[in-house]
Amino acid sequence: NGDKELLERRDETLEIGNECLENKCKKNKEKENLYLIVIGHVDAGKSTLMGHFLYKLGYVTQKVIQKYEHESEKIGKQSFFYAWVLDEIPEERERGITIDVGKSKFETATKIVTLLDAPGHKDFIPNMISGVNQLAIVINKMDNVLWSRERFEEICVKLNSFLRHAGFLESDLFFIPCSGLTGENLIEKPKDLSAAWYNGPTLIDIIDSLKPPERSVNKVLRLSIDDVCKNGASGRIETGCIRVGNKVCIQPLGDIALVKGLTVDDNIGNTAYAGNYVNVILANVDLDKISVGCVLCNIENPIPFTNQFEAKIVIFDIVYPITIGYSVILHLLNFVDEVKIMKLRAQLNKVTGEMIKKNPRCLIKNSAAIVTIRTNRPICLELYKNIKEFGRFMLRDTGITIAAGLVTKVS
Ligand code: GDP
Repeated sequence: NGDKELLERRDETLEIGNECLENKCKKNKEKENLYLIVIGHVDAGKSTLMGHFLYKLGYVTQKVIQKYEHESEKIGKQSFFYAWVLDEIPEERERGITIDVGKSKFETATKIVTLLDAPGHKDFIPNMISGVNQLAIVINKMDNVLWSRERFEEICVKLNSFLRHAGFLESDLFFIPCSGLTGENLIEKPKDLSAAWYNGPTLIDIIDSLKPPERSVNKVLRLSIDDVCKNGASGRIETGCIRVGNKVCIQPLGDIALVKGLTVDDNIGNTAYAGNYVNVILANVDLDKISVGCVLCNIENPIPFTNQFEAKIVIFDIVYPITIGYSVILHLLNFVDEVKIMKLRAQLNKVTGEMIKKNPRCLIKNSAAIVTIRTNRPICLELYKNIKEFGRFMLRDTGITIAAGLVTKVS
């Protein structure tokens, strides 16, 4: 069924998205805000892990746990009781599967953490992946392998090279061995003797140490338009800032418009910065020409656009190999359109990034490559090394994410 398919397509890592508190006030020792999204394959143990975590932090009373324990015994699924802390939907309980992680808040030493619903819709996945910059990768069910150090390290090595090639920095990846079921290494160091080899951080240590993302306010203005309304356009400012009275360039049109007014995160404002979601009231421009995926930028430094570019792609678990001429849907922020793979320039070693083969005939699952992509209409983008928000994209085919890519050359 649809839900099951959807769950199975979810990525297999626990991903953490975070945002710093708008008006962080260090004087008052106000805690930073962090948004946490838990993602993993169905049955990976997400609900059990987070339920047990919240229970250990004291957010769930013993009484509630006892009630869940009793109810789950009644239907013969004792191990599900921690999961129920987060899942309140009765039919999910009966089926013994969990769809969404419920919304809830908890605090660590320096953070107020809001647990967000795992994205329920597949179309949200590309957006979510490109908003996420730090990952806490929980290697769960360590009790199942008697806390095998070899198994843990094997998984770390494989995921590390995969994620590095998808554009994550080594310093933004954290690997934590855990057991959601026994509760080990969530808040306290594991007590299990077979885990004696591990003296790294616990899950809560890692969550507490995540950095608020750098706000790229000093960079050039880049806003990817997600909606056009009768007096302007809206979207999130990825980099730079915008002020009422500014002239802005709308790419790929090349049109210049005047900023007449701003709504910044739902309040009327004069200035908005990277990270803000804004409605921009625009004058002196034909709004009918503007479409979703166009980019607002400074007139001095407009974003480049092109119909063809080169990218390094990491291919996921696909069924049919990618060959020249392959058509696929590209998602880059709000730009979504069909594109064609025009050239397979090189196949790369996924771990070292070295070239294995020039001009391969096809690209198979779990490989990495340099390709040339052609779009039907001009796409605004940047080299990944310059502005990463506009230099990374997802390729999707019939609703399935088949590859992630980084722009390496704009031709
Ligand atoms: P979700 O679909 O990712 O939310 O997974 P659940 O939390 O519902 O767990 C799926 C199954 O894995 C259940 O049978 C859990 O009891 C089991 N499980 C979850 N965490 C652990 C763990 O740390 N160790 C073991 N052995 N089983 C676990």
